[in-house]
Amino acid sequence: MRKLESQYDVIIVGAGIGGLVCGCYLAKAGMKVLIVEQHDKVGGYCTSFNREGFTFEAGAVEDLSEGSFFREIIEELNININITRLSPNLLIYTPNDKIRLGIMIDEIINYFQERFPKERASTEKFFRFIEKYSIASVYYKYKDKTFDQLLDEYFRDEDLRKILNMVLSQIGAVHSRVSALSAITYFRSFVLGGGYYPEGGLQRFSEAFATKFKEFGGEVKLSTSVRKIVVNRGKATGIVLSNGEEISADFVISNADAMQTFVKLIDHKNIRKDSLSLIEKLVPSVSVFIVYLGIKKKIGEKFENCHEIWDTKNCDDDPFNRFASGSNFNEATIYCYAPSFRDASMAPLNCESISLCVFTPSFERTFWESKREVFTKMMIERISKTLSFSETDIIVKETAIPQTLHRYTLNIGGAFKGWAPILGQVDISTMPAKTEIENLFLAGHWVTTGAGESGVPQAAYSGRKVSQLILRSIKKA
Ligand SMILES: Cc1cc2nc3c(=O)[nH]c(=O)nc-3n(C[C@H](O)[C@H](O)[C@H](O)COP(=O)(O)OP(=O)(O)OC[C@H]3O[C@@H](n4cnc5c(N)ncnc54)[C@H](O)[C@@H]3O)c2cc1C
Repeated sequence: MRKLESQYDVIIVGAGIGGLVCGCYLAKAGMKVLIVEQHDKVGGYCTSFNREGFTFEAGAVEDLSEGSFFREIIEELNININITRLSPNLLIYTPNDKIRLGIMIDEIINYFQERFPKERASTEKFFRFIEKYSIASVYYKYKDKTFDQLLDEYFRDEDLRKILNMVLSQIGAVHSRVSALSAITYFRSFVLGGGYYPEGGLQRFSEAFATKFKEFGGEVKLSTSVRKIVVNRGKATGIVLSNGEEISADFVISNADAMQTFVKLIDHKNIRKDSLSLIEKLVPSVSVFIVYLGIKKKIGEKFENCHEIWDTKNCDDDPFNRFASGSNFNEATIYCYAPSFRDASMAPLNCESISLCVFTPSFERTFWESKREVFTKMMIERISKTLSFSETDIIVKETAIPQTLHRYTLNIGGAFKGWAPILGQVDISTMPAKTEIENLFLAGHWVTTGAGESGVPQAAYSGRKVSQLILRSIKKA
């Protein structure tokens, strides 16, 4: 299959979940595949880390339901991981309310119907629509509408709309800018498809894909940075590592940040000027300021062991405009992930591990140097009241700024989920997996899959898609 002069059939830049899934399918099909990863472990954002017996992780993996495409991928590749589901999926604390979202659709509908009896019929209609739509039926109708416009079709009650806006806020952009298509996918995968987690945590999850990749004959080079993607006469032919070593391949797949791929890794003479300026105009998703806490107190049971708890003051919170418009950091929603609430092995005995996340624009390092301590203190003050612990219970404390997220994944400005899911950026053609350079593909959360949303499931989906494109192109040749 491989040309005589190429060392590999395929080289994948990056061992994020998109790169790993893609690598598994290609290696399984008998191709000689190399994954090159700059970090010393696989997973990209889909990782965990340990400090003094506490395991910390940032996000979750949603929509692992039977029959979902992500579950299909896990089954097709025979990945050795147990998937568990817990209810409730989410608890949201507002200044005067507590919102509890379970995992069964009837439960969710009943919950909103009891609170908003006048919107009874619309609530049923809205959630059944989210449950049953097919992408083909909503893509053109909603990609150029906002979430606000979608809600106009269903609801009049402002309080109900505020709650739905708040539930949407974890998408990382304010409801008035979010594409309705992105919102629909988010509600399907996160609200109706939430509550799942891979046993052992996110690192174990990514490692399970890497193990399978190696079983299929794939090779992984860790702690190795790719400096350049080599293009000859419009065709990708390999990579250059940061130590100058060149490795050739018939296909190159970038799981790295798309901006890095086109602006830094490829010589600009190989990309059309208009494509490059289009890419440079796209808006990446926001980044995250994270406070990791190891707490010497058991508190999960008080929250029904729900591993996702938000503390919110304002459902109009706009992370793109925060600070720029002078609004206060202390008003920002805190998204708290507590892996030890659901799984005691993620923290020492009688302790909890939690991560507090606030969405933010990236900002320069100097900004964070001056604000890091103040923001950490503000967040702990607020969340300790909500979660009922005191500052003296904290025995491990660490923070991550957008530059930290960038250092570990090279995502531009520490962007947390590819492109921002806002109007004008969700077309399938915004960032397709097949690039204008022959034999160069993208896999991961920067690829616009047509679902409008990004994240772990979509990164995995794009990984599988790219493997299919390559395998099909080989069959044809
Ligand atoms: C705080 C936080 C919370 C989140 N919560 C959720 C959630 O609840 N649900 C959800 O679905 N998603 C969530 N996400 C987003 C999700 O984790 C990502 O969208 C997804 O993991 C991205 O996977 P990926 O394969 O596209 O790439 P990445 O995870 O970005 O991995 C890319 C890999 O490429 C490597 N790389 C880059 N450049 C090079 C180079 N030049 N040479 C070698 N290697 C390179 C990087 O080191 C990295 O390992 C969250 C993200 C964050 C930060």
